[in-house]
Amino acid sequence: MKNSRHRKGRTLNDNPGDGWRDKLPEMKYSVLREGATERPFTGKLLHNKDEGVYLCGACNAELFRSEHKFDSESGWPSFYDVVAGRAVDLRPDNSHGMRRTEVICRSCRSHLGHLFEDAPQTPTNMRYCINSLALSFRDEQNNVTEG
Ligand SMILES: [Zn+2]
Repeated sequence: MKNSRHRKGRTLNDNPGDGWRDKLPEMKYSVLREGATERPFTGKLLHNKDEGVYLCGACNAELFRSEHKFDSESGWPSFYDVVAGRAVDLRPDNSHGMRRTEVICRSCRSHLGHLFEDAPQTPTNMRYCINSLALSFRDEQNNVTEG
């Protein structure tokens, strides 16, 4: 598995010295640090409706709030806004022959998902389409659930 870091054909900021490979389970590493996408309708947090905050699965930065989560029927956790204006960064992603906007954690530059402007049922028309594996959820009693 020595070369698995390159199997998606692109790498983010991962390098052998950054330590993420040791800190993250392989599935989370694949999404957060290699930009993989989890299979739809498989995420543990997809149907989570508890009140709380969604954290970056790598660095625990606060990213999204339960009040902005909605059921997009896409198969991935979807949010129409972020917890604060500067929680995430956006950058163009032209991989796989598509023009998409990638959503990354501003704090640790991990891949989270993509942003689409196709949610007219929400106040913003925005759909932050986020991998459950890229998140953790912290409820109001401070219980944390890994995505
Ligand atoms: Zn992060």
